Amino acid sequence: MTTGQAAQRTLAEADALAEFDAVVVGAGFAGIYMLHRLRGLGFTARVIEAGTDVGGTWYWNRYPGARCDIESLSYQYSFDDSIQREWNWSERYATQPEILEYANFVADKFDLRRDMEFETRVTAATYDDASERWTVETDRGDRYSARFCIMATGCLSMSRLPEIPGRDRFEGESYHTGQWPHEGVDFSGKRVGVIGTGSSGIQSIPLIAEQADHVTVFQRTPNFSIPAHNHPLTPEQLASNKEEFQALRHEAERMAPARAGGQLEIPKAFDLSDEERAQRYEQLWEIGGVAFLGAAADLLIDERANETAANFVRGKIQEIVRDPEVAGVLSPDDHPLGTKRICVDTGYYQTYNRENTALINLRDTPIEEITHCGVRTTAEDFEFDAIIYATGFDAMTGALLAMDIRGRNGVSLRDEWAGGPKTYLGLQVVGFPNLFTITGPGSPSVLSNMLISIEQHVDWISDCLEFMRQGDLCTIEATPEAQDAWVAHVNEVGDRTLFPRANSWYVGANIPGKPRVFMPYVAGVGPYREKCDEVAASGYEGFALDAPRTAAPA
Ligand SMILES: Cc1cc2nc3c(=O)[nH]c(=O)nc-3n(C[C@H](O)[C@H](O)[C@H](O)COP(=O)(O)OP(=O)(O)OC[C@H]3O[C@@H](n4cnc5c(N)ncnc54)[C@H](O)[C@@H]3O)c2cc1C
Repeated sequence: MTTGQAAQRTLAEADALAEFDAVVVGAGFAGIYMLHRLRGLGFTARVIEAGTDVGGTWYWNRYPGARCDIESLSYQYSFDDSIQREWNWSERYATQPEILEYANFVADKFDLRRDMEFETRVTAATYDDASERWTVETDRGDRYSARFCIMATGCLSMSRLPEIPGRDRFEGESYHTGQWPHEGVDFSGKRVGVIGTGSSGIQSIPLIAEQADHVTVFQRTPNFSIPAHNHPLTPEQLASNKEEFQALRHEAERMAPARAGGQLEIPKAFDLSDEERAQRYEQLWEIGGVAFLGAAADLLIDERANETAANFVRGKIQEIVRDPEVAGVLSPDDHPLGTKRICVDTGYYQTYNRENTALINLRDTPIEEITHCGVRTTAEDFEFDAIIYATGFDAMTGALLAMDIRGRNGVSLRDEWAGGPKTYLGLQVVGFPNLFTITGPGSPSVLSNMLISIEQHVDWISDCLEFMRQGDLCTIEATPEAQDAWVAHVNEVGDRTLFPRANSWYVGANIPGKPRVFMPYVAGVGPYREKCDEVAASGYEGFALDAPRTAAPA
């Protein structure tokens, strides 16, 4: 190639590169708010999203019964008070269509779509040491160049299909709850098989059973589920929440859960008499939802304390489910309550009293294969018109590692995380300058109200970018010492709890071959926020900040 040709190609390549201050990957709640903040600060930014529109989780998970399990009045943005003032939730736990409408409402209100690219999946992101910029590549062949690359790719966005032989052989309809058809599915008159009894299964099974001719549920691990006691919100509740919302949010943002020594007013399980304890659990069961995890201060720390609450829920299952054998199969016995994401349901256990619903215990009779007409277990052949995979996600790291992310000297994130994810504060990874992960592993993320965690990370990143601009700094990168110390701390506080005992997606146990590492930070959003604020106030201790290597032309 002649010098002229090379120069021409470089120019052509430069033309093909769309240049921005920041590229944000993902247009869920994290990407939406990140773009808004970047714009407000005067940074140029592009959001790249695989789906055809905004919403993330609430765009993809359209299965029947999909809802939030954090109450709607808390599961909303706080960054601009006019959002909550203008928006009215209809129920205690909003449905997926309503939450998706909310995401659209926010995107419209701030006119965000004009800086978003839809139906485009990022396949690679590569840091160039010489230019100190990221090149982001997509499945459409587009290339973007950006100083900052911000991963708003979601903790539960990489849906996972089980490795069962013959999956492609099935001639009926098959669906994954996390990739549900936009037009919905009518199961009337159909025989349906549901594989998986995590949150999505527990939310969808009651509604599918109401519609379908017959439902067979295949359960490997029973999960604890607490009734939602969902109800419409009254105009009075909405009005008072609008007045109290910011104060309540401020309080929630600074909260340490009981497991981390917060909420001192909550008693320990054995501070109460047997009668008092039973009464307390009964009250929380009646309130419903994830609040049940606050039943005792030591619920997630002390195995004996946990067992009292677990027994209480198992007792409820026995009360609700008429067939004692089925109730037994539905009763969790291999993990402490709350150490797998606790489920919140409407009529889940009651569904097994229906004539048209059967439960298959895969511990006794595992699935051997999917056949052309259904499911074959070691004991029986089942024929279905539709199979639903409610088999969850490759959580927290799945979406990040699906891309080929390469930092300094071509180092790959897949290699760096081969033994499990390592981050500083869940925000950055050593060797990957100017790359940020919103709600990444090592932050409270999935153990918190995600809207709180998303806003906190977006604000922290935005403040950091502004700090760098003010100081004419070009790169920020976590130091190995800070990252090692943080990873050790995350493990140490995790190990003080019962969480690591469960084969949960928090430790990657649902993905064959995934390294077993407890990924979220359990100490709670309050202590975590304090740490992040301290780091920022110290001039970003634990991060190396550098001026541009080559001075910008005058
Ligand atoms: C069924 C369900 C119920 C939930 N309920 C609650 C709840 O009640 N309370 C709570 O706090 N949390 C809940 N969560 C967690 C939920 O994921 C978060 O609350 C929140 O919606 C996450 O927002 P996000 O923007 O970080 O990620 P997401 O909403 O997951 O958005 C990430 C986006 O990134 C896109 N993306 C990923 N990789 C790429 C790529 N390579 N290229 C382009 N685009 C990409 C995805 O398509 C997706 O749209 C729930 C999750 C599920 C699955």
